[in-house]
Amino acid sequence: MSDQRVYNFSAGPSMLPVSALERAGSEITNYRGTGMSVMEMSHRSKAFVQIFEETQAKLRRLMDVPEGYKILFLQTGASGQFSMVPLNLIGKTGKADYAVTGNFSNLAYKEAKKYGQINLAASSEDKDHSYIPTQDQLTLDKDASYFYYCANNTIYGTEWGYVPETGDVPLVCDMSSDILSMPVDVSKYGIIFAGAQKNLAPAGLTVVIIREDLAGHELPYTPLMMNYQTMIDKDSMYNTPPCWCIYMLGLNLDWVEAQGGAQAMEQRKWQRANMLYDTLDSSKLFRCHAQKGSRSGMNVTFRTGDAELDAKFVAEATQAGFVNLKGHRKVGGMRASIYNAMPIEGVEKLCDFIKKFDKEN
Ligand SMILES: *Cc1c(COP(=O)(O)O)cnc(C)c1O
Repeated sequence: MSDQRVYNFSAGPSMLPVSALERAGSEITNYRGTGMSVMEMSHRSKAFVQIFEETQAKLRRLMDVPEGYKILFLQTGASGQFSMVPLNLIGKTGKADYAVTGNFSNLAYKEAKKYGQINLAASSEDKDHSYIPTQDQLTLDKDASYFYYCANNTIYGTEWGYVPETGDVPLVCDMSSDILSMPVDVSKYGIIFAGAQKNLAPAGLTVVIIREDLAGHELPYTPLMMNYQTMIDKDSMYNTPPCWCIYMLGLNLDWVEAQGGAQAMEQRKWQRANMLYDTLDSSKLFRCHAQKGSRSGMNVTFRTGDAELDAKFVAEATQAGFVNLKGHRKVGGMRASIYNAMPIEGVEKLCDFIKKFDKEN
């Protein structure tokens, strides 16, 4: 085995900053004189409670989370939120608006239908989810209990370039694959949630940022563990939280902060993505799946149009140290996931590789 790290373009679980991994490594058997690993300590211990509180505080600082919002560290993935959101929020009017712009919002939409009357506020299915609907294209119901959308479509490689205007209807947003890739005005949202394994931490943690007044109105049969109010009241520690992932999140947030926070992440995001899109647009072989104006800064989807040539590209890229570039089966082709931890240099080298492949094939 080579001790050389590869450039890992996985959509998730995905790259973490080396500094966070090394720090975890150095503390793996003895966390700061406790004589034990974070994996081995009680979630009620002083050492862990401190990790927990500091991590919450760092995220609050980095995302500028206002008062009146609670940060929760939950489990069951982003997918768990597909059920938790309607169970807790739809009771208000029995109705909700959903914008379906990709795989995960479609799953959320189908799940929500179990609990109420769901209005399809927009869909990009007509063009294979290659674009984001404009504000004018949203069919909004002012009696909706909430408006649901997914900010970045991980599989199709599109990203909302605006925050939908929904008046008094609270926004619920799946930010799994673009959280902390830019500054966000949290006060515009009712709920922001994210599975941590794309841009925050290892798999097993789901971050939820919730306006507190939205909790406490759950449907009567809401499972205890799916009740936001339970988790707010117990500060995410009704049961054992995903301790290790919370610790790793804290280490990643230290790195984000040292780099200059969400603003620096946004600047680098577009530096990476524009470089890659420019290279693909000026190639003779490659076409991007997402339409200009809707393209994601985190997941770049592209293809040659020839499945064999795509496979050749992926195989040769892997050989050259660029791994996990195969696209999701729903879109085919290739996908380069370039989250916060992907160094600019990784994308520069990938662009060189693409240019070389383009010339030779
Ligand atoms: C990966 C992903 C999910 C699913 O996350 P899990 O934590 O595996 O449930 C949901 N939404 C988006 C946008 C994703 O990228």
